[in-house]
Amino acid sequence: DLTKATFDRIKETEDQVDAFITLSEEQALNVAKALDLKGISENNALAGIPIGIKDNIVTKDILTTAASKILYNFEPIYDATVMDKVYQADLIPVGKLNMDEFAMGGSTETSYFKKTKNAWDGTKVPGGSSGGSAASVAAGQIPVSLGSDTGGSIRQPASFNGIVGMKPTYGRVSRFGLIAFASSLDQIGPLTRTVKDNALALNAISGYDEKDGTSSGISVPDFAEGLTGDIKGMKIALPKEYLGEGVQPGVKEAILKAADTYRALGATVEEVSLPHSKYGVAVYYIIASSEASSNLQRFDGIRYGYRSENVKDLEDVYVNSRSEGFGDEVKRRIMLGTFSLSAGYYDAYFKKAGQVRTLIREDFAKVFENYDLIIGPSSPTVAFGLGENINDPITMYMSDILTIPVNLAGLPGMSIPAGFSEGLPVGLQIIGKAFDEQTMYKAAYAFE
Ligand code: GLN
Repeated sequence: DLTKATFDRIKETEDQVDAFITLSEEQALNVAKALDLKGISENNALAGIPIGIKDNIVTKDILTTAASKILYNFEPIYDATVMDKVYQADLIPVGKLNMDEFAMGGSTETSYFKKTKNAWDGTKVPGGSSGGSAASVAAGQIPVSLGSDTGGSIRQPASFNGIVGMKPTYGRVSRFGLIAFASSLDQIGPLTRTVKDNALALNAISGYDEKDGTSSGISVPDFAEGLTGDIKGMKIALPKEYLGEGVQPGVKEAILKAADTYRALGATVEEVSLPHSKYGVAVYYIIASSEASSNLQRFDGIRYGYRSENVKDLEDVYVNSRSEGFGDEVKRRIMLGTFSLSAGYYDAYFKKAGQVRTLIREDFAKVFENYDLIIGPSSPTVAFGLGENINDPITMYMSDILTIPVNLAGLPGMSIPAGFSEGLPVGLQIIGKAFDEQTMYKAAYAFE
């Protein structure tokens, strides 16, 4: 009944947000029926709960497009590891959520299929690339979704929609079956309305996976444990670069207020510096695009999805399928990445970017010698208008200036609601030490 009611609710509200690419109603009802027969275990808080899945996570026999024309008809023959875990937790996947094509973007407007709308204001973007994952949860269609975050794609849309989004530590959640964008940065994580739900969802999807060579064997604590609201004595850092130029005054105000709330709760909040974070966006667009140009070679018109009909020979199959199948933003990244990796430019771009990445990582390590957490805005702005930045890639890229350094350092980062500016939600970003999501959840819960 809950699963049926969920689909009714989705259908009633879908016009407002346009969050889903695919609804898998038949499969979901079968999973729910099997669960009814099996019975719900009392100590599993997630059993029977509907969940939405970003469309770059492969789902057996359910269309998986990464919001690209090149995968318009791709039905995978296997499940991503996170899907195995979703089924093991007795969650009920209800469909596949809209996103920027191959997770490249910050507004969900590069999707080949549709434009998702912000759950608070239909004239604004939902953020991206996990825009469908955030809007569907914020609109009350589902209580939890999975997104992916390469440079901010969980945190920025969570921020724009006033919900909780967690990008776990790199290696915490298996990437097996996540359609790769930038393998050294990508991480799957949950989006929810409450902190506790988020912790429960991360419990379900975390853990070592032999199918992902970068998956970590470090043990997984119960993230929902210790959510008491008591954070006395916690040491919190606020980087001055995170309230600098380009951060909207209303956003800054909300974050300073959040810092005061933490002080009132008994934590200390002090100003620190992350001097190299200003190079984050430049470094990211070299590294992420280089990795993308390599990862996207597999889409050749032969193995998956779209194949051009307009061909004379094999070379045409490759060239025309890719030319017709990829959108502009994806092509921009492939060109940028191929250039940075090419002989003659490799040292100046890709290699140099790797060196600066180390400096960014060291900045964080230094702060974490003395602090438990770092806070700041998730995004410098609230949600912008649909169409407003679509022809201005640089402005769009700047939307992730405060989230990208976290991916470059492999650290966990989350966004939680921290009030409103201009009638739109502001997100507070909380950054933790590697594999210390637990402390982040404690602080997030106390704030909530
Ligand atoms: N907006 C950033 C980009 O376009 C980040 C995307 C992401 O995290 N997947 O690359």
